Parts: sequence; structure tokens; C-alpha cells
Amino acid sequence: MVTTQKLYELFLNCPNGVGTDTRKDLSGQMFFALKGPNFNANKLALEAIKKGASFAVVDDEKYADNDKIFLVEDGLLALQDLARYHRKTWDFPVLGITGSNGKTTSKELIREALSAKFNVWATQGNLNNHIGVPLTILNCPKETDFAIIEMGANKIGDISELTSIALPDYGLITNIGKAHTEGFGGFEGVIRGKSELYQHLIETNGVVFINSTDEILSNMAKRFVNPIMYPAKGDYFECNFIEANPFVEYQPENMEIQTSKMLGSYNFINISAALCIARYFKVELSEACTKINNYEPKNNRSQIIKGKTNTVIMDAYNANPSSMAAALENLKAMPAKSKAAILGDMNELGETSQNEHLKIGEWLNNNGIQNVFFVGEKMSEAKATMQSAGSYKTVDDLIQYLQDNPISNSLILVKASRSIGLEKLEVTLKSN
Ligand code: ATP
Ligand code: MG
Repeated sequence: MVTTQKLYELFLNCPNGVGTDTRKDLSGQMFFALKGPNFNANKLALEAIKKGASFAVVDDEKYADNDKIFLVEDGLLALQDLARYHRKTWDFPVLGITGSNGKTTSKELIREALSAKFNVWATQGNLNNHIGVPLTILNCPKETDFAIIEMGANKIGDISELTSIALPDYGLITNIGKAHTEGFGGFEGVIRGKSELYQHLIETNGVVFINSTDEILSNMAKRFVNPIMYPAKGDYFECNFIEANPFVEYQPENMEIQTSKMLGSYNFINISAALCIARYFKVELSEACTKINNYEPKNNRSQIIKGKTNTVIMDAYNANPSSMAAALENLKAMPAKSKAAILGDMNELGETSQNEHLKIGEWLNNNGIQNVFFVGEKMSEAKATMQSAGSYKTVDDLIQYLQDNPISNSLILVKASRSIGLEKLEVTLKSN
């Protein structure tokens, strides 16, 4: 068995950090063989070495039969311990981000804003769990002088575990909403789970950035001696919904941000967080604004897609009751002659699931969105409160229907949990 210290010495001789996937380029990396519910990567250790990995770490001695392969008790724990060890050698600021919605969006906006002054390293994509956080730390480039680490959670204790690895000295909880209520055992659990980041910052005398528009978070701010609240006093923001060209306008001090690729009033608070943090770290505000202006969401997170006559808000990346409500309010506020909503199941809501889906139907009924399509079994429940909606078992069934009955000249919101696969609608909706 090798110790963390020995692994660290080996790690320092790996020019390209750490990898866990033999389908990717492993050259110059330390390969960690992790075990999942369906797969045990121990048997791939030798292949990893052949593919150029400098070393491999396994937790099954059967596979430790090469002088470049090292045995540990538990591969995942070894990866986490190594990350913790490495993190302790950093002497630059580390910002941890959690929250129910908008973590990745805020992370990307903060990365943009801070990059006007710092060499920022941030979580790649959505690698925000017990494996992604260690990988983020271990793959941090040498020239980094600011790290932003997204931390996801679906049950109590997850954030504590991640903060014990990432040791953030600055923290941001984007908001507390109804997401993953099943794993957290209800909304109270969500509050407790997310606040584990604040707990870490209290214990370590860290600095917290607090969303003052979130009542629960504002209340928790009282636990800190000197919380940094945002939006800042005097900041002004407004959604400027030009029909064909929606964007978000935000005016900090005398500056103006007019996003060209972002929409949704919920993005005010994400932008506001980025500006607050940029201000705190004394980034030239005009440069931060320019960077934010040019930010373009990726991966079906509220992306604006222009079709021949339709404008699609493609929000197929994820959904929960809070983000669904925000997206629907946004659809309502936008001016368009004709609006449609294509909504699918919201997963992981536990016993509140049926009620939350029913509420969506009720909202649609009360707010005059007429052209409505539901996809998935859970969402079909909302037919009870929104009888005129079409209901489809799968996205393929809906695509088939829309090929014969196309939607045109409309502003269309597309939103569901990722597993529903609503992004498949892009081609069909764009062709009109
Ligand atoms: P995940 O838990 O999957 O990592 P996340 O918290 O990183 O999600 P994002 O990927 O940034 O969230 O955003 C996903 C979607 O959440 C967006 O497309 C948008 O619909 C919604 N959203 C973003 N910001 C907010 C916000 N501040 N409040 C409510 N909803 C938001
Ligand atoms: Mg995310």
C-alpha cells in the first residue's frame, strides 16, 4: 500500500495531472482506477499505462502487477486524499460555489469577470461531485492564481465532504430552492445541506458572498461578522425583452451590461454575484462588464436558438420546481405574439413530485400560456390542472407529432430534467 505522501511525490512527476477514463488521452497523467456501480476500472490499469499514463493507482492487488501501478486501500478515498493534500499547498484564493440553481452559470460568469485580472482555474463543465471536485483540484494548471470550485449535492453531508477537500476560503451559495428534495429528505434538508458551505466558512474564518434577494440566505448571513451582500446598493437591472432579440440589461455604478447571448431575469442575480466578487477582488469593473457581456451559455442552459420563424429558449439541461417557476415567469414576461411551452418531467422530488407537477399545470392555466406540450410520465399528471395541454410519453413521440403539426412564429420554452432529452427537439423547432 502506498501512502498519500508517496502518491503525491509521484503526482508531482505527472505533467498532465490526473485522469480516470481510459477513453481519454492519459499521457503524462496519474490514472485512478475507480469502481462504479456497473464498472470496475481496476482491470484497465495496465491499458492506461500502455496508453501513456505515467502511473496508475488501483485498489485491487490482482492488478498491481507492474512497477508503474500502485496499490491503495480505496481508489476513491486515495483520489480525495491526494486532492486535499495538493489543495493545502495552494497559496491563492479558492472560491467554493454551491446552491440549488445557477451554480455553473454563476461559476462561468465569475470566471469571466475575474479573468480580467487573474489566471482563473474553474471546474470544467459540471464536474461538481465527489470525483469531479478532486479532479478539478488535481488538474489545476501551475500558473493559476485563483480557483473556483463548483460543488453539487443531492443529500445531507455532500457539501461537508466537498469542502473538506476543496477547503474554500471564499464561498457563495447561489440560492436555496426546491431541487433534489428527495435525497435531502425535504426542503428543510436542502437548507441544511447547502448551509454546510457556510458552516465551513464560519469554522475557518472565511469570507461569504450572500444573495440578499434570497430570504433564507439573508437570514443565515447573520451568522457572519462581515458578510458581503449582493446586489450592491445602487445596482440597477431590468430585462430588456426585445421580441426578436432578448437580453438582460444590468447597470452597476455607471457601467452597463447588455448581454448578447443570455436571457432570463433569473440571470440578474447570477450576473450580480459575478460583479460583487469582481468588485471584492478589485477587478477593473468595465473589463468585468465586457467579459460578462460576451458570455454565451452552453450545453442547453437557457440557450437562445433562432429558427426560421421560431425563437427557442432551450433549457433542457435540468429542471426543478424553482428553476421551472423562474423560466415560466420569464416566458410570461417576454413579449411575443405567440408563446408555447414544452415541459417535461422534473426528477428527484420524492413525495412532493406529484404536487409540484400539478402546480405547473395550474400556473400555465392561470397565466395564459395556451400552447402547451407535456413530455414524460410525471409531467403528464399536470393534465389534471391543464387539460388543454398535449401529453406525450417520450420526446420522440412529440417530435413525430410536431412534424405533422409544426409550431411556427412562436417563442418556445423547452425545459425538463436532463434525462427527458428535450434537446432532441432542436432540429424540429428550428426548421420553422
Ligand atoms: P446542476 O445542479 O445541474 O449543476 P446548476 O446549479 O449548475 O445545475 P446551471 O447549469 O447554471 O445550474 O443552470 C441550469 C438552469 O437553471 C438554467 O438553464 C436556468 O434555467 C436555471 N437557472 C440558472 N440560474 C438560476 C437562478 N439564479 N435561479 C433560478 N434558476 C436558475
Ligand atoms: Mg452545474
